[in-house]
Amino acid sequence: MKKRLLQYLACPECGGDIRLLSVAKEDGEEILEGDFDCVGCAKHFPVVRGVPRFAELDKIEEDKAATASSFGWEWQHFTQEDERYGDQMLGWIDPVKPEFFKDKVVLDGGCGKGRHMMLAAEWGARDVIGVDLSDAVESAFAATRSAGNMHVVQADLCRLPLKRAFDYAYTIGVIHHLIDPSVGFKSLASKIKPGGHFSVWVYGAENNRWITTIVNPLRTRFTSRINRRALLHLSKVPTAILYAATKLIYGPLNRSQGGAAIARHLFYNDYMNSISGFGWREQHTIVFDHLVAPTANYVTREEFEKWWKDAGASDVVIGWHNKNSWRGFGKING
Ligand SMILES: [Zn+2]
Repeated sequence: MKKRLLQYLACPECGGDIRLLSVAKEDGEEILEGDFDCVGCAKHFPVVRGVPRFAELDKIEEDKAATASSFGWEWQHFTQEDERYGDQMLGWIDPVKPEFFKDKVVLDGGCGKGRHMMLAAEWGARDVIGVDLSDAVESAFAATRSAGNMHVVQADLCRLPLKRAFDYAYTIGVIHHLIDPSVGFKSLASKIKPGGHFSVWVYGAENNRWITTIVNPLRTRFTSRINRRALLHLSKVPTAILYAATKLIYGPLNRSQGGAAIARHLFYNDYMNSISGFGWREQHTIVFDHLVAPTANYVTREEFEKWWKDAGASDVVIGWHNKNSWRGFGKING
C-alpha cells in the first residue's frame, strides 16, 4: 500500500483515525509488510504482501467467507484480457461516461482482480480504492501496484475501513451475493461525500424466473458445494450450449437484416445478443459465476428502488440492463 491511502482509511470498528505504527518491509512508495492501529480503539491491522487487511476470512460470518472464497478461487483461475471490458463496464454504470471519472476519488466496492479499477484510473480518477473480501486482492494488488493512484484493501463491504471521502462509488455484480444486499448498498453509500454519486448493478428478479426456479436450487444444493475444479470442468457443458447458441443463432440473427425482428422473440435475446461477441473463456466465466456462489439474490425493481429511496438519493436513474438486471445511478445527499 502507498502512504497516500492513509488519508482515506478509518477504523471499521469505531470510525477512528488509522495510523501507521511500523513498517517491516517496503519497496519505494509501497509498504509491503507493516502494522497500523486505530487511534480510537487501539485495534491493530496488518499490511500483508502489500495489502492492508481489515478482515480475516476465518473470523467473519461463514456465508460471506464462503462466497469470498469461491470468487477468490475463480479470479485466480481465470485471466482477464478481453478488450471489451471498457464497454461492458460502461454498460453497467450507464449513464456514467469515461469523462466523469476525471479527478474523482473513486471507490470500487468488490474490486475482484482490479479490472474496473484499472479502467477508472485510465479514465482519469485521482485515486481509486478497491475493496474486496476475497483472496482476489492478491491479484488486484499485483495488477495495480505500479500505478501511484490505485489502492487495494481487503475488507468486508458491510464494515468498510474508510472515511466518508469519495466523490463516486460503484459496485458491479457484487452486493447481490450478500445475504442482505441492502446492507452492502447502505454501507457503500455511507462512504460517498454529500453531493457525490453512486452506481450499482445487480441481478434482476424480473425475466430471471428460469434462473431462480431451475438454476438456483441446483446451485445452492449442488454446484456451490462440489469441488471447484470439478465444477470448472462440469460447467463446460452448459457453456458449450450457451456458446453454440450465441455464436450460431443469437449473434448472426441480431446482426442480419430482418433477423433482428425474429431474434426479438427468442428466449433471453437482449442478454444473449450482448454476450454473443464474447469468447469461450468469458462465457465460461459467466456460467461458472452463476453456479459457484453459495449466495445469490435476484432483486426486483421495487426492492432496488427502495434502496435508493432509503439512502435519500436524488436524481436517480434506473435502467433494465439487457432485460435481466438492474443498474442505478444517483446522487447521495448530506
Ligand atoms: Zn477503532
